[in-house]
Amino acid sequence: MTVTTSGELPELLHDVIVVGAGVVGTAIARELARHRLRIALVDAGDDVGNGTSKANTAILHTGFDAVPGTLESRLVREGRRRLAAYAEQSGIPLEPVGALLVAWDPEQLATLPALAAKAVRNGYHATRLLDAAELARREPHLGPGALGALEVPDEWIICPWTTTLAYATQAVRAGVDLHLNCRVQSVTGGRHHELATSRGLLRTRYLVNAAGLHADELDRLLGRQDFTVTPRRGQLIVYDKLARPLVGHILLPVPTALGKGVLVAPTVYGNVILGPTAEDLDDKRATGSSAEGLETLRAMGARILPALIDEEVTAVYAGLRAATGQDDYRIRAHPRLRYVTVGGIRSTGLTASMAIAGYVTGLLGDAGLHLGPARDLEPVHMPNIGEARPRPYQRADLIAADPAYGSIVCHCERVTHGEIRDALTSTVPPGSLDGLRRRTRARGGRCQGFYCGPSVRALFEDGRR
Ligand SMILES: Cc1cc2nc3c(=O)[nH]c(=O)nc-3n(C[C@H](O)[C@H](O)[C@H](O)COP(=O)(O)OP(=O)(O)OC[C@H]3O[C@@H](n4cnc5c(N)ncnc54)[C@H](O)[C@@H]3O)c2cc1C
Repeated sequence: MTVTTSGELPELLHDVIVVGAGVVGTAIARELARHRLRIALVDAGDDVGNGTSKANTAILHTGFDAVPGTLESRLVREGRRRLAAYAEQSGIPLEPVGALLVAWDPEQLATLPALAAKAVRNGYHATRLLDAAELARREPHLGPGALGALEVPDEWIICPWTTTLAYATQAVRAGVDLHLNCRVQSVTGGRHHELATSRGLLRTRYLVNAAGLHADELDRLLGRQDFTVTPRRGQLIVYDKLARPLVGHILLPVPTALGKGVLVAPTVYGNVILGPTAEDLDDKRATGSSAEGLETLRAMGARILPALIDEEVTAVYAGLRAATGQDDYRIRAHPRLRYVTVGGIRSTGLTASMAIAGYVTGLLGDAGLHLGPARDLEPVHMPNIGEARPRPYQRADLIAADPAYGSIVCHCERVTHGEIRDALTSTVPPGSLDGLRRRTRARGGRCQGFYCGPSVRALFEDGRR
C-alpha cells in the first residue's frame, strides 16, 4: 500500500496514471484496480477529494431531469444504482429522504407533468404528482403559495467525503499508488507519456485526465483543444442541527437553463443546506462566498421555508462546477494518444462516479490497454459519520471494547478520540485539519472549532509524528 505526500516518485513504467483524485478520479482508480495493472493516482492537493468533490449538495440523483439520450443521463442512472449498493456495503452514510419538486406559480405547476414525462424518457418511472394539500401535509413548514409538487422518491442524500475516501482506500489497498502534492505540469509524448510533476517525473503507457476544473488545461498539454472549462460557482449556507425538523425531503425548485436551481435539503450529518447559486466566473480558485450570493440565497430560502431563515448558520461554503457550454459530459478517448479525457463532469459527478469509472475503463480497453480478467476487491467498511446509524459515542459495545470511543473531543459533532486516532492511522490519512474534518466531522459543528480546535490540532500533530 503506497500513499506518498512528498519525496521521490518511483521510476517504474505505469500501465495507467489517473490525474485528479476527486470523486471521479478515485472511482476510476478503484475500477482499474480490479485488473492486474500498475496504476498511479496523482493529485496536486494534499488530500483526495479536495476539489469540487468536497463542496457540493451531496444528493444521489436519479437523473430524472437530465437531457434524455445524453451520456450523462445514462451514467447518472447507472451510477446511482451502483453507488446506492456500494454505500450500503461500505458504510457510506446515505438517507433515502426523497425529493419534492415544488411549483410556486401556475406556470411552474403546468410544467410538472412535462418533467414527469422527461423522467420517463430518462428511464425513471416513479415520480408522482402531489396536490397542494398533500404537499402541505408532507412539508408543513413550506412557505405560503406552494401549489403542488412532483415527488421523486429516489433522490437521496449521501456523504460525498466518505464516498471519495472509500474509493481511494479500496484502490490503495488493491495496489494503486496514490501520490499527493503532485501537480502535473507538462506531458511529453513518444512511446510512453512522461509527466513532469511538482515532485519529479512519472512515466505511463496510458493516461486518464480526471482533473476536474483543470481538465481543459491538461488536455492542452496533450495537444487537444476540445473544450474550455468555465467555473460555475455554487454558494451554500449550512444551517444548524436545530433546523433539521423543519424539512423532511429535498425541496427542489423547477429547473432553469442555468442548472438545477436553489434547493433546501437535509444533510446526512443532521444539518440543513440552502443553495447553491449558479455564477459563471473566470477564476478557478474562487471558492469564497459573497455577501450578494448569500443574500440571494436567504431571500429564496425565506420563500421556500420561512422558519429556516431564523435558524443559526453553522457555515457557508462554495463549490465550482466544471461547466463546458455543453449539456453533457466531455468524456472522450484518444486511442492514438493512449489517453482518455474525463471532462465537464458538472453537477452530477458524485452520483455518476462509479458508472463513469466503468465507462472509462471500457474506453481504455478499446484504446488498446490489455485489461485482463477483473477480480473482486476486498470490501471496505468506512467509519460512520452520518446520523442515520449509531455513531461511536452512542455504541456501548465499542466503548466497552475501547474507551477512546467514549471520550469526546468535538462536542458539537460528538467526535471521539477513537475516531480521530483511527482517521490519522487510516489507509489514506488526512493531510490537514480540514481533511480530518471530512473524515470525522471534528471542528465541523456550530462552534467551527472555537472550543475543540486546540485539542483537535494537538491530536492531529501528534498523530502525524
Ligand atoms: C455546488 C455544487 C453542487 C453539486 N451537487 C451535486 C450533487 O448533489 N450530486 C452530484 O452527484 N454531484 C453534484 N455536484 C457535482 C460534483 O460535485 C462534481 O461533478 C464532482 O465532484 C466532480 O469530481 P471530479 O473528480 O471530476 O473533480 P474534482 O473533485 O475537482 O477533482 C479534480 C482533482 O484534480 C486535481 N488536479 C487538477 N489539475 C491537476 C494537475 N495538473 N495535476 C494533478 N492534479 C490535478 C485537483 O487537485 C482535484 O483534486 C455538485 C457540484 C457543485 C459545484
